[in-house]
Amino acid sequence: MVKIADYASSSAVANVRTALERAKQYEAHHALLNLTETRALERAAKVESGEITGKLAGVPFVVKDNFLAFGAPTTAASTMLENFNAPLQATAVERLEAEGAICIGKANLDAFAHGGSTENSAFGPTKNAIDDTRVAGGSSGGSAVVTALDIVPFALGTDTGGSIRQPASFNGVYGVKPTYGTVSRYGVVAMASSTDTIGCLTTTADDAALVMSIMAGKDERDMTTLPNFFTPEATVLPLRIGLVAESMNDDVDADVRAATSAYAEKLRAAGHTVEEVSMPILKYTLAMYYIIVPAEISSNLARYDGIRYGYRAEALTLAELYGKTRDEGFVTENKRRIMIGSYVLSSGFFDAYYQQAQKARTLLIAEYQKLFETYDVLLGPVTPTPAFKLGENTGDPIKMYLTDIMTVPASLAGLPALSVPAGTNEAGLPIGIQLTGWRRSDARLLALASSMEAN
Ligand code: GLN
Repeated sequence: MVKIADYASSSAVANVRTALERAKQYEAHHALLNLTETRALERAAKVESGEITGKLAGVPFVVKDNFLAFGAPTTAASTMLENFNAPLQATAVERLEAEGAICIGKANLDAFAHGGSTENSAFGPTKNAIDDTRVAGGSSGGSAVVTALDIVPFALGTDTGGSIRQPASFNGVYGVKPTYGTVSRYGVVAMASSTDTIGCLTTTADDAALVMSIMAGKDERDMTTLPNFFTPEATVLPLRIGLVAESMNDDVDADVRAATSAYAEKLRAAGHTVEEVSMPILKYTLAMYYIIVPAEISSNLARYDGIRYGYRAEALTLAELYGKTRDEGFVTENKRRIMIGSYVLSSGFFDAYYQQAQKARTLLIAEYQKLFETYDVLLGPVTPTPAFKLGENTGDPIKMYLTDIMTVPASLAGLPALSVPAGTNEAGLPIGIQLTGWRRSDARLLALASSMEAN
């Protein structure tokens, strides 16, 4: 697979043209909603003339279509924003552009990032890079597929409960969900503000470290951003690694367990210690997530009212305008979450659901904190199975939510977590393992993954 350094020797215009050609060649995967061809070629010409320089000069990339970016509408894969042209660009995109990177297109996702397969896109699903009868994963499905198909060497995604890590594992690429607050969320369509993170999908761990170090850092327009702690680390000492027992039970596909055990063996062979650890609270994390996240969604999506911007339905009265706009503009999964969120926040049920979930979240964070006193890194699978068939889980939201069971814990605790390619099953479907660390240990996780690449 191509990596960022492969683009250094050729001209920016050639890089962009190759990326656009490959995007067209793989159109049937439906990984991209729009190309930003005109703007990309203009920027490439400026790189060639020396007007634009930087660490990523002339390197093409793709953004998930919930990042505000120029050159094409920003749709969030939703009818609500189908014709929305961003008045500004996301800080993450601005920082990459300041280093000369060139966005060539906008990737498909589940509408408003609600989902784990990209089948909730209002514009049709994305197909897996390796097996086009299977899902791309989601919600950053398009970003994972364009990276796995070598259309671009890296793509941006958002991860609220697994949306970078899970599609990365389904398509055999790296996925970084950073410490909460690492990268500014300014200019990114909000899903759940307390767990939304901005990260990337790449073909090597070092490329991920480079891209993250460029995007990371304080942004006065997002008060939750941390000062840039993201210094790529070169050395990896023998680390103490905990293998999470709860993620290795019989509910998990045998090939996924075998790949995780094999990775544990490789870590031991490289001099690290790997011990089994237990986190009993993990069984409650999916319930916490599917209370807290819909609550925040119901609040964040209130702005799509047909008045301020975005889609507006035909209607005679104000109430009808709100109702029809939201009915026609949102997909079923968006509406389900708005309803669950409104319910758990309502005065009669707030104490029973939302408050309980937040208390449980505090316990989860405490349990992690305790484990990280003894261990540097936690290891487990990313998902219970490799990529499932298109349509397999669409009729059953609970089944779909269960695929998030291993990715939501790090999101609720604000911890960095990586998806690392760890081979394939017999059918050739990629399997990923997950490395989780304590807050701000992102660079160390990437250094560990990098050191294991050669093994
Ligand atoms: N699959 C999870 C969900 O549907 C994660 C989504 C995300 O991270 N954006 O909530």
